[in-house]
Amino acid sequence: MILRDPVPRSLCTDCGVSRMADPSACGTACQFIKPDYPGMERAVHGRARKDGDERFFGPFQAMYRAAMTPAKEGAQWTGITTSLAADLLERGCVDSVLTMVPDARDRWKPQPALITDPADMARARGMRMGYAPLLALLEEAQAQGFKRLAVIGIPCQVYALRKLEASLGLERLYVIGTPCSDNTTTENFHRFLALLDEDPDNITYLEFRADYRVELRFADGRQRLIPFLSLPISDLPADFFPLTCKTCVDYTNVLADITVGYMAGEGDQWLIVRNARGAEMLERLGDRITLSAPGSKGKRAAAVKGFIANIERAAGGLPLRRMPKWVRPIVSWLQPRTGPRGLEFARTRVEMKAAETILHLRHALPAKMKNMIPDHVWAIAEPYGLTPEPHELLLTKNTTGEAARPGAEPPTGAQSRAEDTSALP
Ligand SMILES: Cc1cc2nc3c(=O)[nH]c(=O)nc-3n(C[C@H](O)[C@H](O)[C@H](O)COP(=O)(O)OP(=O)(O)OC[C@H]3O[C@@H](n4cnc5c(N)ncnc54)[C@H](O)[C@@H]3O)c2cc1C
Ligand code: SF4
Ligand code: SF4
Repeated sequence: MILRDPVPRSLCTDCGVSRMADPSACGTACQFIKPDYPGMERAVHGRARKDGDERFFGPFQAMYRAAMTPAKEGAQWTGITTSLAADLLERGCVDSVLTMVPDARDRWKPQPALITDPADMARARGMRMGYAPLLALLEEAQAQGFKRLAVIGIPCQVYALRKLEASLGLERLYVIGTPCSDNTTTENFHRFLALLDEDPDNITYLEFRADYRVELRFADGRQRLIPFLSLPISDLPADFFPLTCKTCVDYTNVLADITVGYMAGEGDQWLIVRNARGAEMLERLGDRITLSAPGSKGKRAAAVKGFIANIERAAGGLPLRRMPKWVRPIVSWLQPRTGPRGLEFARTRVEMKAAETILHLRHALPAKMKNMIPDHVWAIAEPYGLTPEPHELLLTKNTTGEAARPGAEPPTGAQSRAEDTSALP
């Protein structure tokens, strides 16, 4: 089907909203304008995030290390994400699943699709790199009369979906989210593949694994593992990762009913069941899925500090610091054995992401900081000395007329953050 062209926006991952009949909906829906995470967490999950691990990962009922048994052919990990959705279709809980399939000419390019046959969920398996207008198909779903929908999305898509949810007229919505970080355009990703291997066209699979290695799989069945420290990251141009993904404030998809990732999985997958609907979906998989408690080992502070030092250089336009070549194999051997693992690895990545957001916005778009950075992101970065300057905070008047931080009174500032349509470019 032919979609409308996107409306150009300054910070945009083309989630599809600007291609809808009313593109001004971006003003309320967009993660990059004035997101209201505390308010949306309450609206979706019925409560604000608590202390402890919810500080990092958002509200949840339960977390698991998990795997489909057996793993699904062609899945990114073991296929939990697409199995949850296929099961909803099989049992008639939804009329359709909105998700991404590979473009017919480029296996790495995502293409939005509405899937109605559970067997077709196999087409969606695997990770594509890039952006595609998932939410533009919400109007097509309405046109086809789908009233019960499941959506699989990355965080910036899910934020916009949740903001539009009440206006969609759906009887039921299931949201299956994956974490997301370091996305880029599919064109950029092809350049990365060419730097990684001399046979880039035959790479069929890539994953940044929790054991500090990138796994590549090839069309002829070969597999290659590359330690993170040997990646050509410092050879990438400064604009390789768009500013959207360098300043994204939701790594773990906090507004999904269930988040399916791998970071705390120590080689398996990692599930964050956030609410009753997420629990309902997981329950239905029965003994097709193996669940256990996630572990946690190592200490993250040194890794996060090293990362911040490098991001400070990168944000200031300086080249990344390279580790001497002879040291790399030693550290690459040590990292999976002594570095943060399990939940501690996931906390490490969330802290890194928070610091990255603050540093890149401070450098590139300081005026957007007060609207774009939620209080909990500042709280995550605070142990590393990254604290807000007064002009980086959104100040509102409280009932006594004093200037107050949103989030100070009442506990989080959901209601005080008005939506900002004027910020649209
Ligand atoms: C760009 C990107 C970055 C990611 N980074 C992380 C990370 O840092 N940490 C982490 O734990 N997990 C990350 N993930 C999620 C992870 O790669 C797996 O998708 C997830 O663990 C689910 O595995 P699975 O076997 O259950 O998925 P499968 O059953 O194989 O299903 C994968 C689902 O993801 C959808 N999908 C694939 N590519 C895209 C895309 N570009 N945009 C939107 N949806 C897409 C597919 O349509 C499909 O529904 C990322 C995903 C993407 C797309
Ligand atoms: S909501 Fe944001 S990401 Fe989505 S199309 Fe609009 S500006 Fe782009
Ligand atoms: S990193 Fe954030 S902004 Fe970029 S694609 Fe992923 S969820 Fe969207």
